[in-house]
Amino acid sequence: MGGEYGIIIHGGAGALRNTINPESYSEGLRRAVISGFRKLEDGCALEAVVEAVYVMEESGIFNAGLGCCLTAEGTAEVDAGLMDGSSLAVGAVASLKNIRHPILAAKTIMERTDHVLMVGEGAMRLLSLYGFKPDPELVTEAKLRRLHELREKWLSGADRKMSKNREIVKALSHGTVGALAIDRKGNVAAAVSTGGYWLKLSGRVGDTPIAGSGFYAENGVGGAVATGIGEYAIRLTLCRRTVELIRSGLNAKLAADRAISVVTSTFGEGTMGIITIDQQGGYGYSYNTEGMGRAIMMKDFSEPVVGIFQ
Ligand code: ASP
Repeated sequence: MGGEYGIIIHGGAGALRNTINPESYSEGLRRAVISGFRKLEDGCALEAVVEAVYVMEESGIFNAGLGCCLTAEGTAEVDAGLMDGSSLAVGAVASLKNIRHPILAAKTIMERTDHVLMVGEGAMRLLSLYGFKPDPELVTEAKLRRLHELREKWLSGADRKMSKNREIVKALSHGTVGALAIDRKGNVAAAVSTGGYWLKLSGRVGDTPIAGSGFYAENGVGGAVATGIGEYAIRLTLCRRTVELIRSGLNAKLAADRAISVVTSTFGEGTMGIITIDQQGGYGYSYNTEGMGRAIMMKDFSEPVVGIFQ
């Protein structure tokens, strides 16, 4: 390891062409990766990934924090996860109603408790001790209108079963956020935050707060953060599996490609994206959806590399 350091973030995988404004979306990614990179220059990987995710949560552009989607019942229920590869410490939260910065809630669980994952009311009570409170701005009139439209479309479809939600999710999701960084000392960290997906049932938890499925980081090996249909990432324990590919000798890029080809052969196209980092400071990303917003800023880059489509 020659002191390589850098950060890679994603803004979610999905069918993006009809749902995003590419300029503001790219600008949101750029701002987040630069903020994260600044923390990396004078801090550690953990602070960098938290900062990048915080900026994306605050932007309202992505499906996380302020911009989160709504459940079928019209509630904002957010999940987030954080992992420090130097200690394998994890903090995660799930089904938090109306919390603007779930990534800070995950960090609080990591730093202040002996637990790794807290959910619902108990988590809210604990977090209130640290100043977290529900923010009504997460449920806006515009989001409720969108929910109504989506629900109408869904209900008028031939099949209402949740197993068919996959088709809906494929068409509608526009992005969870995630970040992976490696600092000069070789510390790797991963962070991820989401609203889940539109029309999810209240109480549903995806891969985002599940260590090994939605995120994983381990010093000396690397890290991975997933986006897409969380149920599939959980069933494959996707991020741990991807980091194992890196451990077995693949670089970050090959591991990302291999992981997504496993997802595609198991669950089909249009389902998942992933970002990866390895201990040599290599990075990778791969997705089988129409697009996946991502931004990368490594030590020797003069500016971030931002992309959405192939
Ligand atoms: N993986 C997230 C979930 O299933 C959604 C996403 O990545 O867009 O909750």
